Amino acid sequence: MPVTPGRSYLAIPGPSVMPDAVLQAMHRAAPNIYAGELPDLTATLPADLNRVARSTGDVAMYIGNGHAAWEAALANTIASGETVLVLATGRFAHGWSEMAEDLGAVPQILDFGKQAPVDMDQLENVLRADKSHKIKAVLATHVDTSTSIRNDIAALRAALDAVDHPALLMVDCIASLGCDRFEMDAWGVDVMVAASQKGLMTPPGLGFVFFNARAAAKRAMMSRVSRYWDWTQRANPDIFYQYFCGTAPTHHLYGLRVALDMIHAEGMEEVWTRHQTLAHAIWAAADDWEEGGALALNIQDRAHRSHAVTSLSLPSPKGSELRQWCETQMGVTLGIGLGMAQPGTYDADSYFRFGHMGHVNGQMIMGLLGTVQAGLTALNVPHGRGALDAAAQVMASASVPSG
Ligand SMILES: *Cc1c(COP(=O)(O)O)cnc(C)c1O
Repeated sequence: MPVTPGRSYLAIPGPSVMPDAVLQAMHRAAPNIYAGELPDLTATLPADLNRVARSTGDVAMYIGNGHAAWEAALANTIASGETVLVLATGRFAHGWSEMAEDLGAVPQILDFGKQAPVDMDQLENVLRADKSHKIKAVLATHVDTSTSIRNDIAALRAALDAVDHPALLMVDCIASLGCDRFEMDAWGVDVMVAASQKGLMTPPGLGFVFFNARAAAKRAMMSRVSRYWDWTQRANPDIFYQYFCGTAPTHHLYGLRVALDMIHAEGMEEVWTRHQTLAHAIWAAADDWEEGGALALNIQDRAHRSHAVTSLSLPSPKGSELRQWCETQMGVTLGIGLGMAQPGTYDADSYFRFGHMGHVNGQMIMGLLGTVQAGLTALNVPHGRGALDAAAQVMASASVPSG
């Protein structure tokens, strides 16, 4: 008998769990888009988005998902025929690269595979060899949601600076913003893209491009940028209508306002620490499960694991069977293995992911881990038996005041 009635947990890496307060803020009659509450509320959003990104630059907002933000970032900065260096540590960097190619750019891909972060020496060598500065931008994912790798963005900036390379540093924070520490200004990021439906706890439908003065200068040199994607008016509109180049995503804006209030009421440091603690509990459990010889965390090095998403493997078809079991028996939906198919070695069936981004707390993660443990038992997957103890220990330690 399934034991699913009750509140379910969509533990996929986006869309994430939406807070009731966000949903309730969206449940209202259509507002006037020309004057009053909505324009006033919208004008407050960029500053509070910047507080999440630790940025003092501009923010352009789009009706669109993360792919829209990808395209917007490129459309404003990269002209047809210009080279971009793509640092691939999973499926999403390849996706951004494909988009660049379709816009007429020439992607040069440095592929670090599916289980390792960007190698800074290799990057520096490529940048040093680019004497004529053909590379106009370096594209990287902070967290790649397919592999759950987290890249060291400050080190990317250091690599560019070490060889005095003028390329823009453009970072995809769609999975990490509001989950993993990110410091746009301090880390020297020129362009950053994000979307509403992951750490920002708002339904899919809003994309964001954060950019600094260096990126704005590159935009000013572009001979042509499509009006819809142009970030100039969106970031500094003369009239409200220009924020979204047309009708605003009215209800999403109400939702986002509440989500940002929740994030800042908690505090950025606290938000990052919460995600870290929850991730540590997951890793502790997975370390123990690994002892059975079947389950494995995709990323070995803790320093390069995301705090928002965790990619794991189980021999095919157990990965898919576990997802199925957790959903139909227990009401927890795990993420699919994305972009992990690798002829002869892995296939997507043998991968699954935990989304632990945004509106997620300790009891949800303990429930998730307990559910997976039950699933491993039900499916006769050999696994260590101390996973829940190990996770409980992490939660218990987190409750002890530090210092
Ligand atoms: C989710 C995600 C995307 C794609 O966002 P969509 O909203 O699905 O278009 C891109 N990059 C990363 C790192 C993501 O996590």
